[in-house]
Amino acid sequence: MKLCCKPIQTRLLGKGVITRCCYKEDGHIGSCEEFPYLFHLNSVAPRVANKIKRDATKTTGAAWKSEDAGPNRIDRWAMLLDEQELLEKYRVNISVLKPGVQAKLREKAATYEDCMNVAAKLTLLVYQMRDAPTPPQSISFYLESRFGIILFGSTKCIICKDYLSFSLFDEAKRGRAHIETAHANPRIHNPDNVGFAHRECNIAQGNRTLDEFYKWIYNILQRVEYRL
Ligand SMILES: [Zn+2]
Ligand SMILES: [Zn+2]
Repeated sequence: MKLCCKPIQTRLLGKGVITRCCYKEDGHIGSCEEFPYLFHLNSVAPRVANKIKRDATKTTGAAWKSEDAGPNRIDRWAMLLDEQELLEKYRVNISVLKPGVQAKLREKAATYEDCMNVAAKLTLLVYQMRDAPTPPQSISFYLESRFGIILFGSTKCIICKDYLSFSLFDEAKRGRAHIETAHANPRIHNPDNVGFAHRECNIAQGNRTLDEFYKWIYNILQRVEYRL
């Protein structure tokens, strides 16, 4: 599918750093929009829609909580800027943070384009979860022309490969999220490397790649001579 890609004006912090784009199909009618495929989830499951936007485009927040230096969550593409640009354009002084914290933030860097493609991919994965709401035809058409046929009920935890149910998002209302956005390689943020996982699985994987994680588990099972 050819996308419109016309620039969208934004008044948010970081203006001028990046040109946000329209992700509707080229030649569309009506106004340009950055997340046109989220209008349905925005109305039936707004928390899920916000999670998709946030996880696709922002770094996680913990590292910033004790600092006055910047916002709790920051655009992933800002992490591609050097110290000086970060200070000028985002008013974030990264140099005051410990080297380990800086490195962790830099690992989250991704281009705007990758982030936007991740958002669309996560939307597809949400609709493919068991018990997920059915997307309106316009959204099915949009997602299918970008990613191929939608296979309802096919989304699995990228770590344990068990099927994920949309109802897990609802259960999260009563506590912490049961489903998290996860990365096969935690240092790469693009549609091929991103998916959803159980919170427990994501915690267990930690900062390892999936390959490192499975080897780690395998070695443990061997050492303890585990038998089913
Ligand atoms: Zn447009
Ligand atoms: Zn899992």
